[in-house]
Amino acid sequence: PLPPQTGTTAQAAAAAHQTNGTTKPTSVLHANLNSPPPKIVSAQGNYLTTSTGTQIFDATGGAAVSCLGHNHPHVKKAIIDQLDTVEYTYSPFFTTDTSEKLAERLTKSTDGQMSKAFIVSSGSEAIEAALKLARQYFVEKGEPQRTRFIAREQSYHGNTLGALGVGGHKARRKIYEPLLNENVSFVSPPYPYRGMRDGESEEAYAQRLGEELEAEFQRVGPGNVCAFVAETMSGLTLGAVPPPKTYLSTMKSICTKHGALLILDEVMSGMGRTGTLHAWTQDSVVPHLQTVAKGLGAGYQPIGALLVHRDVVDVLSKGTGSFVHSQTYQGHPVACAAACAVQEVVEREGLMENVRALAPVLEKLLRERLGGHKNVGNIRGRGFMWGIELVADKPTKTPFPASKKLAATIHATGLRPEYGISLLPGGGVADGIDGDVIMLAPAYNITREDVEVIVERTARVVEGVLGG
Ligand code: PLP
Repeated sequence: PLPPQTGTTAQAAAAAHQTNGTTKPTSVLHANLNSPPPKIVSAQGNYLTTSTGTQIFDATGGAAVSCLGHNHPHVKKAIIDQLDTVEYTYSPFFTTDTSEKLAERLTKSTDGQMSKAFIVSSGSEAIEAALKLARQYFVEKGEPQRTRFIAREQSYHGNTLGALGVGGHKARRKIYEPLLNENVSFVSPPYPYRGMRDGESEEAYAQRLGEELEAEFQRVGPGNVCAFVAETMSGLTLGAVPPPKTYLSTMKSICTKHGALLILDEVMSGMGRTGTLHAWTQDSVVPHLQTVAKGLGAGYQPIGALLVHRDVVDVLSKGTGSFVHSQTYQGHPVACAAACAVQEVVEREGLMENVRALAPVLEKLLRERLGGHKNVGNIRGRGFMWGIELVADKPTKTPFPASKKLAATIHATGLRPEYGISLLPGGGVADGIDGDVIMLAPAYNITREDVEVIVERTARVVEGVLGG
């Protein structure tokens, strides 16, 4: 999901020339139109192999997707079994065992708080469905004036127009502004490294952000707000920032006070990425609408879902009884079979326990190996979602200029044979704002030795680009 205007594509293209040794024209509309990225010819476990034989440790599962690593036999078998049974049905006409099974698994995993799952094919589609369902909920409740959404600056919710409309990522929005929903406004995201004042507690910081949200409700008219939209844990565009203590409960209480909905986007942070199946359970804040995607199908099939709180479901059930929205590939049986199998593996192999056990090891090794580096300003994260923020000057937290494209350069350098690691570039620089973050989002089934490999290779790439 990297925007075409970042340097990543140019850097990746350069790496492609280096690793593939080819400039063969391509008919694929790649991120960089004139030059393809390296070609992957096989993938096994944590490793990707390029067409020139370079072995790359996939430390981010693409964009925090491949949470079981590659080529998992149980998931592959489930896909083939489903193809042998029923490969496709149109969900308004027919249901299938696998879509029923997946929805039941998802709702049960929330202790029944979320009582229905609307299964789609991507994170963006899940967000689109969330925005539309929020709107329909208020129309059915007799509050059709609620048309406004409040979201957060430097956030990312997907690239389709509705999702982009609630995304506060300026670089991605810029040329599409005239097409985006004008009923959206933005408040500051929680970003302790740069947003918290000296001596301020996390709770006081959360309170201050709450006051900003309250002021925005008042500015647009509290009775006009449909929902507040936020990533439970900020992903790519801020760079793996967990919510400060009491932040989510403060935001939810403001929504509740004004009768608006809370939409939590867990497309990246959900389905186990932060150490629990749902990130909101760690802050004991239940959303009205929740989106999930990446870890749901672990990349074996394109799939996402909108989970709907029972109170919202009740209003629709007692109202028109139908959601005015559907998609051709909704509840796709093969995607559902893959997601069920992925979730079975997560459960059977105790992978949440593995993430929770190894997260402190990953954090400790990252801090030991990289914390003292002259350009590492901040290391933060939760579970298997970590961000390393790089700065030109540590005491003043001065970022490298966006024009340096540092995060993109580090990503491209990592792909070279002598480093062999795929890292996820993010942070403010992806928004045209100065600020570079390198993200790690490994598979949930890695071992302690893998953690050591990830940290060592990451450190070598950082040192290779910025010096020791
Ligand atoms: N929301 C968040 C938090 C994401 O990180 C992403 C993708 O990176 C999306 C939504 C969009 O998901 P997709 O790319 O599957 O449409």
